[in-house]
Amino acid sequence: MYLLYLDDSGSAANANEDYLVLGGVAVYEAQANWFTQELDKLAETVDAANPHAVEFHASEIFSRRVEPWKHMTRPEAQGIILGVLDVLRRSYQSAAAFACAIHKPSYPNRDPVELAFEDLCSRFDMYLNRLRATGDRQRGILILDESAHETTLQRMAREFRTLGTRWGIIRNMAETPLFVNSGASRLVQLADHIAYAVFRRYNACDTKYLDVIASKFDSADGIIHGLAHKQVGNLECMCIACLSRRAAQGRGDLRTPPGISPQDESP
Ligand SMILES: [Zn+2]
Repeated sequence: MYLLYLDDSGSAANANEDYLVLGGVAVYEAQANWFTQELDKLAETVDAANPHAVEFHASEIFSRRVEPWKHMTRPEAQGIILGVLDVLRRSYQSAAAFACAIHKPSYPNRDPVELAFEDLCSRFDMYLNRLRATGDRQRGILILDESAHETTLQRMAREFRTLGTRWGIIRNMAETPLFVNSGASRLVQLADHIAYAVFRRYNACDTKYLDVIASKFDSADGIIHGLAHKQVGNLECMCIACLSRRAAQGRGDLRTPPGISPQDESP
């Protein structure tokens, strides 16, 4: 079974931000423990006496307003975020990152969370289908932070059976999405950092964090399937997702992932 841990970054309602990102990591069930151990080791460098009390939450670390990040210098705090992401970079080859960045002004009539969730589910499904084609018949499950303040995400998880059937992705799913406490799950904390890395890239043109994990996004045949930049209007976007998509279109070997209607695609 493949577990896809997901978290959001940015807010659908905040008009000061152009982007909403949903992102995370798919790991094989037997690999989850390695991630927990590595992130526990990193937590020990923050608080050796009580590492389990250290919760990695990227935006909190970045802003340094609360303990234990409050007394860190900016490079120290940013080093922690990079350290969390580095665990993914040096992890298993089969551990794959996924993220969808929605440029909110491009879709004024759509709920960005809904758009991102549908897109990510389709990409995860495509990933499982590709494994299946090689004889690795695995099912998948989505695991979300229970404190996800986005009510849309909670509603979509509740209606997952209906939505999943409509999107044609239900065959590969073992269960409806599960919600876990991020404080108790290092992998949800890693998902938070992946979403944050992608958010910083698109919302603030800060590539520092995404650069660490860029090679970990699900890809095959030279196409980065795991990262989507959904925007309308910028035909020359030079981000790795748009570049990869344009290169594949030039070769004529890109198929629109299932579940994404043509009107949602960049022209
Ligand atoms: Zn782009």
